[in-house]
Amino acid sequence: MINQCFIEQPTTRKILQDVTSVCTECYRTLKEGEKTYYDMEHYRYLCEECARRLCEEKLERERDIMRYEEETAETPSLFR
Ligand SMILES: [Zn+2]
Repeated sequence: MINQCFIEQPTTRKILQDVTSVCTECYRTLKEGEKTYYDMEHYRYLCEECARRLCEEKLERERDIMRYEEETAETPSLFR
């Protein structure tokens, strides 16, 4: 499911050296070999835990927007 939001990558030594050695959300130290997730929207790397949480929040927001659009489409005159 996280793959809907972020690009899954193994944490390589190159990422740790050239990009970041911590999760940009919780600042936990990333270890070589564990999974990391690249956030294309914000150009940052996240640990698995943060990626999962942020992805859930993002999908939830999108569901809310869709729900809102459906509701306003069904009742066009109420809130105008
Ligand atoms: Zn994190």
